[in-house]
Amino acid sequence: TPAIRPLLAGNWKMNGTASALATLEAIAAGIAHLPDVFDTLLCTPATLVHRAASAAKATRIQIGGQDCHTGQVGAHTGDVSADMLADCGARFVIVGHSERRADHAETDDLVCRKARAAIASGLTAIVCIGETGAEKAQGKTLAVVERQLLKSVPDSATPRNVVVAYEPVWAIGTGLTPTVKDVAEVHRFMRDQLSARFGSECAGMRLLYGGSVKGANAHELMGIDHVDGALVGGASLKAEDFLSIARAF
Ligand code: PEP
Repeated sequence: TPAIRPLLAGNWKMNGTASALATLEAIAAGIAHLPDVFDTLLCTPATLVHRAASAAKATRIQIGGQDCHTGQVGAHTGDVSADMLADCGARFVIVGHSERRADHAETDDLVCRKARAAIASGLTAIVCIGETGAEKAQGKTLAVVERQLLKSVPDSATPRNVVVAYEPVWAIGTGLTPTVKDVAEVHRFMRDQLSARFGSECAGMRLLYGGSVKGANAHELMGIDHVDGALVGGASLKAEDFLSIARAF
């Protein structure tokens, strides 16, 4: 298997106005002191993407959005397209985050179409999947992951245009994380599923873990086979917290 350059991705969710650019700058300054062996991404609110991309220009930080429409232009009041994010300097966009699946009833099919729109705009789609607590309790984790992978990741996926983030819903924002054994099982399963579907071309696709990653658990989680980075929510909002995770890369 090829060496995969890990990705540390922050998801600011609906947090951040102009003053948050100072956090971005503090993160960039900290990352500059770390070995250049991983990529760093901040997915800001859409309203900050342009300013964040400008602020990040001469740094190792890349900027992404948190959602996009399935289309690029048109009569969709309030929506933001992948073309618009790319135009503002975004390089990535999260699609199918569990909060969007829950709050906006996003289906696997919709997420897949959003991923296709992102790819068409030259963005890398970070496709989020993961089981709920109820599904885990019923022993359905791998079945849910299999279905979401198959239906949310488009046929045009490559290691350059898609990143998959495994985010157990029950682990997001709760301080709970799966065991190392459980993360290892899911990530190996995802790699096997993707290889079966896409062949060796997808061997380099980055598989992120997300859900209550923090400085204290990052080293252990990032050491698991087929975990090629992290998607970080709460701990991406403060530079010290995010940098304590970055030091585990
Ligand atoms: C997320 O929402 O993508 C996430 C992983 O959140 P947290 O790190 O806060 O659990």
